[in-house]
Amino acid sequence: MNKKVLVLEDEDDIRGFILINLKRGGYQVIEAKTGEEALQIIDQEEGLYVAILDIMLPGISGLEVCQYLRKKDEAVGIIMLTAKTQEVDKITGLYTGADDYMTKPFSPGELVARVDVLHRRVELLKGKKDDIIFSGPFSFNRQSRTLLKNEQEIELTQIEYKLMECFFDHPGIALCRDEILNKAWGDNFYGDGKVVDVNIRRLRKKIEEDPSDPKYILTEWGYGYRWGISP
Ligand code: CA
Repeated sequence: MNKKVLVLEDEDDIRGFILINLKRGGYQVIEAKTGEEALQIIDQEEGLYVAILDIMLPGISGLEVCQYLRKKDEAVGIIMLTAKTQEVDKITGLYTGADDYMTKPFSPGELVARVDVLHRRVELLKGKKDDIIFSGPFSFNRQSRTLLKNEQEIELTQIEYKLMECFFDHPGIALCRDEILNKAWGDNFYGDGKVVDVNIRRLRKKIEEDPSDPKYILTEWGYGYRWGISP
């Protein structure tokens, strides 16, 4: 996976200098010259773990970008760049969304080291969250490979586990039989969609309140199945 870092800095020299050092540190850098540009990137980019935001910018300030980003993502790591020490009050006082700050001029080694620390922290936070998926009365734990319904464990076969994983990864989305077949049985399995139907029937008996009138694994006629609880 790419380690993406957003760098917002209007001064080309400083941005270039940060970019070179982060790339050397193994990061993929997404550059923004203005706050406006940064907001757009934040809305579009997936998997942003760390952002380095300069405060003094011609338009929208780095502090506003910081607030926006924090509101959108509680876990993301944010480092503010300041030119003057008095700005530190603003970062540590009113705008507490930032995790760290650096006063210009700073050493590149120090910056990369701080990005490393934040990145590791965010990776842990996000990783933990993704290991357990919650959906209605269910919780699905990838680490212990267990499925709970109302806190009660439901015993699953290997294939049933894979089927549930498939649904939890695509909640509310209709999946065709071939797709389910590939995901649960693997690409090398030569069989038809009937095996999917058989296993879904068995799975419904385990997880549905009324298997003849399913609420969770819904049939998409002539196509496949859909997890009935939208995210
Ligand atoms: Ca600036």
